[in-house]
Amino acid sequence: MNQRRTRIYEGKAKILYEGPEPGTIVVHFKDDATAFNAQKKAVIEGKGVLNNRISEFIFTQLNDIGLPTHFIRRLNMREQLVREVEIIPLEVIVRNIAAGSMAKRLGLEEGTPLPRSIIEFCYKNDELGDPLVAEEHVTAFGWATPQEIDDIMSMTIRINDFMSGMFAAIGIKLVDFKIEFGRLYEGDMVRTVLADEISPDSCRLWDFKTQEKLDKDRFRRDLGGLVEAYQEVARRLGILNENEPLPTVKPKLVKS
Ligand code: UDP
Repeated sequence: MNQRRTRIYEGKAKILYEGPEPGTIVVHFKDDATAFNAQKKAVIEGKGVLNNRISEFIFTQLNDIGLPTHFIRRLNMREQLVREVEIIPLEVIVRNIAAGSMAKRLGLEEGTPLPRSIIEFCYKNDELGDPLVAEEHVTAFGWATPQEIDDIMSMTIRINDFMSGMFAAIGIKLVDFKIEFGRLYEGDMVRTVLADEISPDSCRLWDFKTQEKLDKDRFRRDLGGLVEAYQEVARRLGILNENEPLPTVKPKLVKS
């Protein structure tokens, strides 16, 4: 790894470095897992490698259907090259089935299918614990413009339709997920594009037949087997082939 490159930001699960050209960023996926606003922490060896691969796969598919994203290409096991964007400070959450905080908040049994897909906004602010907000707050406080919200809503519906189908085809229910958007500045133009990552860290994924959880709830709820579950998602997506060594195996020095 090039040690001289400039670190721009270190988050809970990723580090951002200056990219090779202006307007680009290198995203490094760490093995760190956090939950409950970072009150619960662990290092889960192999998680970063799997998230890098799974997110690459999903962003490439979305780029291919014409959905604008920040993703350029994967660089290596843990890193990808993306376009630099200004992150819109919203967590956009899409729900198809009641689970997690929504099930709790509304007294719904986890697993209840929702009458239609629901999109929620949370204000990205760790100190406040990413509070749920209404569109009114978003525009009143200027976190995003009405035009940006329109773009976010239409892209989000498209992403949900595409991903629900993609996961259904491999026997997985897309229960809910979180996405983030950014502003891409191109000369005088600003475009809203999908940014951040999409991985089992940011989705709830349940096996259709067994209802087994194949996502970060394995960590949040101390179920164990997180890497195995993420590997299963990658394997079904056709990313890992059966004989590929597990990413948890550390690279060995080969002496000639
Ligand atoms: N989520 C996320 N990051 C967050 C909060 C939520 O990626 O900071 C994802 C989470 O993995 C789930 C969906 O958004 O797929 C809905 O999460 P929920 O609001 O139910 O919160 P949680 O129960 O995870 O606290």
